[in-house]
Amino acid sequence: MAKQQQAIQAIRGMHDILPEQSPYWQWLENKARQVLGAYGYQEIRLPIVEKTDLFKRSIGEVTDIVEKEMYTFDDRNGDSLTLRPEGTAGCLRACLEHGLLHNQSHRLWYYGPMFRHERPQKGRYRQFYQLGVETYGMPGPDVDAEMILLTDRLWKKLGIRDKVELQLNSLGTTEERAAYRGTLVTYFKQHIDVLDDDSLRRLETNPLRILDSKNPDMQAMLQEAPILLEHLGEVSLEHFNSLRSALDDLGIAYQLNTRLVRGLDYYGKTVFEWVTDELGAQGTICAGGRYDGLIEQLGGKANHAIGFAMGMERILALVELLDDVAIEPGVDVYMIRVGEAAEKAGLALAERIRDEIDGLKLQVNCGGGSFKSQFKKADKSGAAYAIIIGGDEAERGQAALKSLRIEQEQVTLTHDELLQTLQNWYSNKSL
Ligand code: ATP
Ligand code: MG
Repeated sequence: MAKQQQAIQAIRGMHDILPEQSPYWQWLENKARQVLGAYGYQEIRLPIVEKTDLFKRSIGEVTDIVEKEMYTFDDRNGDSLTLRPEGTAGCLRACLEHGLLHNQSHRLWYYGPMFRHERPQKGRYRQFYQLGVETYGMPGPDVDAEMILLTDRLWKKLGIRDKVELQLNSLGTTEERAAYRGTLVTYFKQHIDVLDDDSLRRLETNPLRILDSKNPDMQAMLQEAPILLEHLGEVSLEHFNSLRSALDDLGIAYQLNTRLVRGLDYYGKTVFEWVTDELGAQGTICAGGRYDGLIEQLGGKANHAIGFAMGMERILALVELLDDVAIEPGVDVYMIRVGEAAEKAGLALAERIRDEIDGLKLQVNCGGGSFKSQFKKADKSGAAYAIIIGGDEAERGQAALKSLRIEQEQVTLTHDELLQTLQNWYSNKSL
């Protein structure tokens, strides 16, 4: 006898989304699509694998992602490829490759899995889903404000607006950051005894990232660190101030976070994050900013870009804290068939129902079973109605209809009557 094999399990940090969870995903995805549509954004679908160099060149060699989080491998030709850790680089690569940035502006979104080799924990996975938005060709700050409005509208639509807060900062231009970097490094060197190992390493490579440290022992020192906003030039300041007054005019509250720097190298000017304190340490649900400089860095002509990405698992974790999310059941009507004649008649009737009632979700019992066991399955399916066909109904060209959710007399109907009844119910339901 064959020995039973040990079952293979999924990779740590990479999760299955099971049928009972997928309605929540679809609900979130649909809301997001509606909101993006309301602002005229278009979908772009991108490969999951790109050349490793794309990420090295765009995200920056001394970022967490490139230093230690990428899934990089050689393919059979010996080319170094990487499972995308984020979508901005690939989206821009595609737009440059297809000439989409010549004297045009674009508002784009993409959706799908991203991969980072991080330590798995609540809200932090190795495969996770991002919905990303990128716009090109618009210098802002009007479009910067639009992005924030769009996200604000989505949180309202999801019912989580009161759980999140907007944080805002400006990183200025490359030159302004370079000048500030000197001041910052001098300050950190004066407090070198307080810096942890990570920060000591970053002192040479990416000192701005130290500002973002969560180490409690460093907080007092960081509180007193020089502030980038105070080193910005006139143009950057004006950009930032117009964005702030646009948000004020629209009644969108925000927290000025002068230590918000973002983990990726390509950002400049506006950066923002939506954060919550209801998810523990992984509290950022959406993050983004302006990255005008990246376009030239990837071989394009000087241009403008701003975007953000939201972490779908974290948003769903917030939604889970609500008690009244209206999720559509996967099945509207369940058909019970007992006996050979009923199975035959039922199959034809089901096809007719599907022909005539567009959108109705009808599940037909397959694999036989008694009335009792089929009723159990009908109930479990979440359906509002059961259609019941036994030998008698099959013979007379009829079917019975029974509500599974409300007290209602079971009725026996002709096929035409059944169709009419279901049609009425369904069109009222979808009003
Ligand atoms: P963090 O500081 O949490 O590591 P990040 O700055 O690396 O975030 P971004 O690259 O800005 O994250 O990604 C945008 C969003 O994607 C994050 O705000 C978060 O909601 C989500 N996200 C990032 N990494 C993960 C992950 N490993 N698992 C789940 N969601 C993630
Ligand atoms: Mg990270």
